[in-house]
Amino acid sequence: MGKQYETVIGLEVHVELATKTKIFCGCSTAFGGTPNTHTCPVCTGMPGSLPVLNKQVLEYAVSVGLATNCDITRYCKFDRKNYFYPDNPQNYQISQLYLPICRNGYIEIETADGTKKVGIHEIHMEEDAGKLIHDEWEDCTLVDYNRSGVPLIEIVSEPDMRSAEEVIAYLEKLRMLIQYLGASDCKLQEGSMRADVNLSVREAGAAQLGTRTEMKNLNSFKAIMRAIEGERERQIDLLESGEAVVQETRRWDDTKGCSYAMRSKEDAQDYRYFPDPDLVPIHISEEWLAERRDALPEFRTEKIVRYKEEYEIPDYDIDIITGSKRLADLFEETVAICKEPKKVSNWLMGETMRLLKEQGKEPEDIVFSPAHLAKLIAMTESKEINGTVAKEVFEAMFESDVDPAQYVEEKGLKTVNDTGALQKTLEEIIAANPQSVADYRGGKEKALGFLVGQTMKAMKGKADPGLINKMLREMLS
Ligand code: ADP
Ligand code: MG
Ligand code: ZN
Repeated sequence: MGKQYETVIGLEVHVELATKTKIFCGCSTAFGGTPNTHTCPVCTGMPGSLPVLNKQVLEYAVSVGLATNCDITRYCKFDRKNYFYPDNPQNYQISQLYLPICRNGYIEIETADGTKKVGIHEIHMEEDAGKLIHDEWEDCTLVDYNRSGVPLIEIVSEPDMRSAEEVIAYLEKLRMLIQYLGASDCKLQEGSMRADVNLSVREAGAAQLGTRTEMKNLNSFKAIMRAIEGERERQIDLLESGEAVVQETRRWDDTKGCSYAMRSKEDAQDYRYFPDPDLVPIHISEEWLAERRDALPEFRTEKIVRYKEEYEIPDYDIDIITGSKRLADLFEETVAICKEPKKVSNWLMGETMRLLKEQGKEPEDIVFSPAHLAKLIAMTESKEINGTVAKEVFEAMFESDVDPAQYVEEKGLKTVNDTGALQKTLEEIIAANPQSVADYRGGKEKALGFLVGQTMKAMKGKADPGLINKMLREMLS
């Protein structure tokens, strides 16, 4: 048998913070917009302009640090990372190297072998760069500085992960914590959460870490999984054939399923880091830190305990619902209106999950409002609509948050409660299906189901199957 190899992974995760304005100026952070309209002299790097720190950035960064068990740096500074690139108008990025805001934390993840701690080396604050648009038709490159100066935090883990599964568990946990804090929506696809994967392999049992590569351009969990598998194999092949792994940055091409070298890894000194003289150091007082601690939201563990006391829903439901801040909020807000925890949970666990999965969406993409879900539940409870119709209405709500009452009215989906009309239809169905009637009378329960189905069809789905069932039994007895 060949040698056994261990995979070692550390992540650098960039998260765009949910502030309304940029990190060092008052420009909007809104995604998109006409190019170069969310800009000013500060975020386009004009000489003589001065940056001023957005306090909300510090609040978010500190809350993420507290949620990940970090030490908060009481005296912290910004540094300039110098490099020339056209998406970086100042020719330096304002970041933190010497005194990052958070250090020495960890988060716990669930693995096949139980709970595991993944160390957080540090979290620092920095500004995002602009965007280059390569126009092949015109053979030129355009630059859009709308994203320049959007606040980021970079969360650097220790090289503590050993498999793709652990990496995904880490990212999911991190995303959940940050979403609970409201510090970011953490959408990988839209780039508000971006992960760079540092990976090395070593012979099982070796004391030293192997040489690592860094992979960028990973915008989904699936791409991350595939990139890890691909890079692990590439490195093992190199070592097996007696070659060395080169420390470099590689770009993962998810469509081709392989990575290629971008550049050999630069050293920190290449960036000529030095403290930014335009920004004052930040001094964090005990009082302010205590305030931040008090302002932390109810996290998942506390929520689970409270849900078990307050709502009569299965533990399984509680686990899934509290796994997403968006679902938990929806659940709580809807229950507050309709007071039907189990019914709300059923809609979330059933149809909502089904449609999310089918459409490849995240709970963050849900558009229907608690008020409309509560209304739909009330309409079903009062038998105004039946279960099948309710599902149809829900699908429409899921698409565009329609008002269920209005939708039912417009589409004429209300259950016919006129027992006279139902009685008449039932008589017709009984007359038309003598064999099924005989079967039912002969003891075949199944035949009744068939007759209920035929009646529902004749009523165009707008009847209460429970009522049909009851009336049929009476008529046939
Ligand atoms: P740099 O500052 O050059 O980017 P760092 O030492 O800060 O390098 O590490 C960056 C990331 O790489 C961290 O997440 C760290 O955990 C990870 N890392 C460092 N060494 C290794 C290694 N040998 N194998 C896998 N990951 C590593
Ligand atoms: Mg780095
Ligand atoms: Zn600006």
